[in-house]
Amino acid sequence: MQTYSGPISRLIEEFSKLPGIGRKTAQRLAFHVINMNISEVKGLSNAILEAKQQIRYCSVCCNITDKNPCSICSNDNRNEEVICVVEDPRDVAAMERTKEFRGKYHVLHGVISPMDGVGPDMIKIKELIERLNNESVKEIILATNPTIEGEATAMYLARLIKPLGIKVTRIAHGLPVGGDLEYADEVTISKALEGRREL
Ligand SMILES: [Zn+2]
Repeated sequence: MQTYSGPISRLIEEFSKLPGIGRKTAQRLAFHVINMNISEVKGLSNAILEAKQQIRYCSVCCNITDKNPCSICSNDNRNEEVICVVEDPRDVAAMERTKEFRGKYHVLHGVISPMDGVGPDMIKIKELIERLNNESVKEIILATNPTIEGEATAMYLARLIKPLGIKVTRIAHGLPVGGDLEYADEVTISKALEGRREL
């Protein structure tokens, strides 16, 4: 690789640590930054710093927020009897975009994955159980991803929560809209069959 002077090499180095950024893209970004005017660069670096400094976890649902509790937890118009459990803050954003769900959320920040050394105590399960003990929750919707880890985490939570007398449901996973049965894998098709409903 071509060598650049210290500061540029460092910038390339930092960019290439980001997910999905290869060496080439890191170089392109670094040179783009060098060609930006100073106020744009300050805007960018401030945005990064402020996001990191101001964003924290909501003390109720563990979603990322800049105020505590977050806007969903503090919204009285949302149904607090139903909690949708997701893996990641991005899943909350995806659910919200559908405008279908009017309950509240709980963000696990990961899934149980023994292969990666992630045990139940390393994601926000304890916080969820605490909520169930304190709030009047009637239904938990498990909306972890239909991966092996997502399914295992859902099963684990179901076993934990059902004895508390709370209804536990799992979102149906099926074929993506525009998807083709022919090209779907077995897990997708068997989940689609499992989640079928009467028309
Ligand atoms: Zn919240």
